[in-house]
Amino acid sequence: MKIISSKFLSLFLPHKCTFCREAISYKNNTFICESCMENIPFIKGDVCVRCSSPRQSGSMPVCNTCRKYSHPFTSSFTPLTYTGKVRRALLNLKFHNKENYCRSFSFLIANNIMQKGYPDFDFITYIPLPPERLKERGFNQSELIAKGVGSILNIPVTDTLFRVNGSAKQSSLSSAERRKNPKKSFFARDMKLKGTALLIDDIYTTGSTLAYTSSLLLKMGCDKVYIATAALQVKK
Ligand SMILES: [Zn+2]
Ligand SMILES: [Zn+2]
Repeated sequence: MKIISSKFLSLFLPHKCTFCREAISYKNNTFICESCMENIPFIKGDVCVRCSSPRQSGSMPVCNTCRKYSHPFTSSFTPLTYTGKVRRALLNLKFHNKENYCRSFSFLIANNIMQKGYPDFDFITYIPLPPERLKERGFNQSELIAKGVGSILNIPVTDTLFRVNGSAKQSSLSSAERRKNPKKSFFARDMKLKGTALLIDDIYTTGSTLAYTSSLLLKMGCDKVYIATAALQVKK
C-alpha cells in the first residue's frame, strides 16, 4: 500500500533531471535538463569501432583489447563515459531504487544509435541478473533500459539469456578473473534465434560479459550481434 501511495503521489511531484535532480518541465520526457545535456560526459572524437572506447585519431580502428580478445560483437553504441554525474546516476539507479533513471539512459542510447546509423535489428535483448539479485533489487536495469530503447526505436525486446545464482559479482573480481567468470554464470535459454541482435547492458567495463553473451547469441543462431551500453568505464 505504501508503494502504491508513493507512486500515486509522485504523479504530482515536479519532474527532476536524472543527473542533477533540478526540477524540469513535465513535458521533458528525456528527464535530462538542458545544462546536463550539455555537460554530461559524452564520448566524443574517434572511438574503437568495436567497443566505442576513445582512441587517438590515426590509430587502428579496433583497439588493442578488442583485437587481443577477438570480441565477437560487430560494433557498439555507447553514448557516455562512466564518470562524474553519470556514474552517480547509475549507482543510484541500481542501489537506491531509482529505476526511473532508466528512461534517460534509454533515450541516450537510442539517440546514439540513431546518430550513428544502424542496421535493421530483428530484436533487442539484455544481460540478465542472477535470480537472487533480481529479487533483492526488484528490477533488472538492463532489461528496463532495453525496453525503453525498444519502444523508442520500435524493435521487439526478447528474453534470451539467464544467469545462475552464486556467481561472483563482476565488480569484485580482477580483470583476469572477470574474463573467465561469465562462462560459469551465463547461459542461453532453450530457443533458436536468427537475424541481427542488439544486446544491452548498463555499463561496459572489460567487455568480457558482453563478449561471452554475444557468443551465446551467435551460437543460438543470430547472424550478428551489436551491443549497447549506457556508459563505458574508460581504461586507466
Ligand atoms: Zn540536470
Ligand atoms: Zn575496442
